[in-house]
Amino acid sequence: MPWLGHLDAAGLARLRELSAGFLAAKTITGAAGFEVDDRVRVAIAAQACLPILKLGLAAYDDFVEIVVYPDRFLVSRSQVDEAGVVHESTDELAGEAMERGPVVLSWPDADPNADADPASRGWNVVIHEFAHKLDMLDGEPDGVPPLPARRRAAWTREIEGAWESFCGMLDRLEESIPRHVDPESPQGEAWYASLPLDPYAATDVGEFFAVAAEAFFVDPEPLAEVFPDLYRLLTDYFGQDPRSAVR
Ligand SMILES: [Zn+2]
Repeated sequence: MPWLGHLDAAGLARLRELSAGFLAAKTITGAAGFEVDDRVRVAIAAQACLPILKLGLAAYDDFVEIVVYPDRFLVSRSQVDEAGVVHESTDELAGEAMERGPVVLSWPDADPNADADPASRGWNVVIHEFAHKLDMLDGEPDGVPPLPARRRAAWTREIEGAWESFCGMLDRLEESIPRHVDPESPQGEAWYASLPLDPYAATDVGEFFAVAAEAFFVDPEPLAEVFPDLYRLLTDYFGQDPRSAVR
């Protein structure tokens, strides 16, 4: 896996030990005909345990099941707006994490070797969803995992400030994209590449934390450069510094 370059021998041994404990404690189930083999189990366990090297396996005590689909899966949602109108929608997802419930993953997105050059991926759906699990240990995802009171205040201030500043960056960027450029086209996407995080991070503070956590592990440089204080908090929380990798 391309995301483990910053771990020394002790760090790798710890990851191996946590992954074994994870596999012993969790059930990984295939859905829609997907067959879970040892490669799938180990790949998911190692990626899920990377964020808990310091926190330990107890951080995942509130659930047992991971469900894996052969591809992206559809989820129907029903939301009631302020006027009482019910909106039905269907989303195609690469992953989903439920409060005190299972984590659901699409294998092609969770497979660390799905690309010819896995290091080129600036995202990681497994780390993203398990970051949501850490966030949800104390309720609704709000970008703030359980922390001692004093650290909690500093964390909340920092992550909310970084999220607002990221939303500002995204707004300014979108205003500067020329009208003839389709934002969904490869040419449009090149504009977004100047952002330190995937634009999805602007959704809300909970998504900002999950996207920042995946960037922290798979593409830490832009995050550390643009949000150095947030990067320091994440380094302390996860007990590791992915920038120290010898690549
Ligand atoms: Zn998310």
